Amino acid sequence: MRDSVVGNPTLPRKIGGEEVLFLGDVCRGYVALVGKDSNFNRVLIGVYEQLKSNGSNFEIVFVSSDEDLDAFNSYRENMPWLSIPFSDLETKKALNRKYDVESIPCLVILQPDNTKDDDTYYDGVELIYRYGVDAFPFTKEKLDELRREEKRKHDSQTVTNLLTNPERDYLLDQTITRKVPVDSLKGKTVGLYLSAQWCMPCVEFTPKLTSIYQKIKQALQEKGDGEDFEIVFVSNDRDQSSFESYFGTMPWLALPFRDPTARTLAKYFDVQWIPCLIIIGPDGKTVTKQGRNLINLYQENAYPFTDAKVESLEKEMEEAAKSLPRSEYHAGHRHLLTLVSEGSGGGPFICCDCDEQGSGWAYQCLECGYEVHPRCIRAVTPQSSIEDR
Ligand SMILES: [Zn+2]
Ligand SMILES: [Zn+2]
Repeated sequence: MRDSVVGNPTLPRKIGGEEVLFLGDVCRGYVALVGKDSNFNRVLIGVYEQLKSNGSNFEIVFVSSDEDLDAFNSYRENMPWLSIPFSDLETKKALNRKYDVESIPCLVILQPDNTKDDDTYYDGVELIYRYGVDAFPFTKEKLDELRREEKRKHDSQTVTNLLTNPERDYLLDQTITRKVPVDSLKGKTVGLYLSAQWCMPCVEFTPKLTSIYQKIKQALQEKGDGEDFEIVFVSNDRDQSSFESYFGTMPWLALPFRDPTARTLAKYFDVQWIPCLIIIGPDGKTVTKQGRNLINLYQENAYPFTDAKVESLEKEMEEAAKSLPRSEYHAGHRHLLTLVSEGSGGGPFICCDCDEQGSGWAYQCLECGYEVHPRCIRAVTPQSSIEDR
């Protein structure tokens, strides 16, 4: 029964009084266990509708993890595909067990004649994000071909082929009307800033990035050897006016609003979260996709974001940490904070003081897990830290 839901289905059938369609054997089998990730849901709907409209043998079955029928119904309203009835707990549990589902959204991809387990892909979410409709029909040959093509593209990557398309070879400057040739970025370190005004972390990060951008530009100008840095805003805004008002706060260049290259870039770099800062080196090759973290960790010192630079910054941080007090009271917290490193109970964290990521050294509360960057510590005596609360 479990296998027949997705593997050897008959249609239609009655289960628990609700009529459901199971997948016919002409359909490409699919089980989707889609969680409340509306972003993925939106992407998946786009792929699904495209495949349906070109007549591909393809179906999706929604396996709900909703807590009640109302939630299930309202979520399902937005889904153009099939679902396991909410009341059919037994099948849902069996599928979760069979496919070893640990977190959602999870998309398990099955072949039409799904007899061998190695034809099953468990990383459907990643495949859809990465290749979209091109991943169909999700065979090993198709995926190998996509990976080869991707590698070819990355190997021959230049700032020009990244940022232009057949209709456009320019970027916009601050006036929004003036056009700056993409070729003018050749030989510079370039940051691609994927961001949007509706995204809170983006709006918070932009002023920080602006001030660091200006510091880097100024330092390069003083150096005066022609080395240069530029940022290109790749907007994910929902309308022209929010694009314009958001870009109005930035001192760098932008792709035009709704330019198709914006989507291509997000897919090419496999961007799943914004804000995202991708760094392209003077040779046009990708330096890092972790620009945002590096800016948060090292500010303007992160430039030019290369592995060698990051390594030397890490060494400096190790050195500097040697002179830090082993423990400290911080104005924002009532307990004693202890200096930890990656090797001694630390690791990647979100600073409770500035809300940005950190890694390496941190001051951590061993009692409740409160953690701050060493640079964010405002040292106090125990008495005043309690009064500050
Ligand atoms: Zn901090
Ligand atoms: Zn604490």
